Amino acid sequence: MTVIAPGMEIGILGGGQLGRMLALAAARLGLKAHIYCPEDESPAAQVAHAVTVADYDDRAMLDKFADAVALVTYEFENIPLATVKRLARRAPLWPGIDALGVAQDRLREKRFLQSIGIETAPFAAVDTQADMAAAVDVIGLPAVLKTRTLGYDGKGQFMLRDGAQCDEAWLAIGQAPAILEGFVGFEREVSVIVARAISGELACYDVAENEHRNHILDLSTVPAAIEKATADQAQTIAKTVATALNYVGVLAVEMFVCPGGQLIVNEIAPRVHNSGHWTIDACLVSQFEQHIRAICGWPLGAARRHSDARMRNLIGEEAEDWATLIGDRTAALHLYGKGAARPGRKMGHVTEIFPLGALSTGR
Ligand code: AMP
Repeated sequence: MTVIAPGMEIGILGGGQLGRMLALAAARLGLKAHIYCPEDESPAAQVAHAVTVADYDDRAMLDKFADAVALVTYEFENIPLATVKRLARRAPLWPGIDALGVAQDRLREKRFLQSIGIETAPFAAVDTQADMAAAVDVIGLPAVLKTRTLGYDGKGQFMLRDGAQCDEAWLAIGQAPAILEGFVGFEREVSVIVARAISGELACYDVAENEHRNHILDLSTVPAAIEKATADQAQTIAKTVATALNYVGVLAVEMFVCPGGQLIVNEIAPRVHNSGHWTIDACLVSQFEQHIRAICGWPLGAARRHSDARMRNLIGEEAEDWATLIGDRTAALHLYGKGAARPGRKMGHVTEIFPLGALSTGR
């Protein structure tokens, strides 16, 4: 196996803000990021050493890219499996294809979680419109219909409150293979970011509490307002998932906290995650650096938090406030270099930092 050393080039599939922050973390460690994505002028390309602009099914360009880099990773999970399989034949690829296959398909993901003893919402497969009524009978109402693949930020989802909505729901999600999930009456939503090294070593960040607006993450607050036993349990779940997947890199596990502290896993993301952006400013080693360390076969860094933190996404025109935000001496501003501030587009984030314990009152 090639030993990865500073000065080498690492390949990143995807040119968005996560690729950008991975490239910046790689650069801090003396590595050179090579971004592969179909878009010109992507946020990641602006800070990278090299860029390949090509489609994810361009075999010749994929081969050239794989040959140019010491290893390949990715910043989003909806990459065609054929693309990663092709790359993995020519270069080490982390996290592996198995983890990607599980996270790309909500049905496989739920079955996997249950197989390792982790609680999920009740679910039933819905392959055709004709399966809807039977699924509603099994799961009950209210329930959420979700496409098995390619859903994000609430896209490809329909909330059913009444059995008469079956046809409407099926049409709304685009008549694609789906799962029907029982509605979880949660108290709060949390996530855990965990890193796993090639050696099996684990580093787990503190639990973040997440609030959404229009189905998009709005605020992540650390620590989450949950009991210590619940937080410990959330971290144990994340570590169990990473180990069971034989995972290498950073993984995010999103969970619902129900009354009494019961934890239900909603989904896993085989990558660095928006709800872990606070780690850049509140920890010695961020989720991005941790991912780079893990895939390079290096030891993981300290995931310990030196501050309490509140991260707010800047969506659409919210980033136009940059001149005010940059004057805040208690916050760190991150802008992603995106051109047009379309509604719903993640343009940047701002992390407010507080002394350790300051946000824990009443938590
Ligand atoms: P997802 O795309 O699975 O992350 O879902 C987006 C959001 O929809 C979640 O963050 C929850 O707020 C909500 N949601 C998803 N699934 C359920 C469920 N089974 N019960 C209640 N709320 C849900």
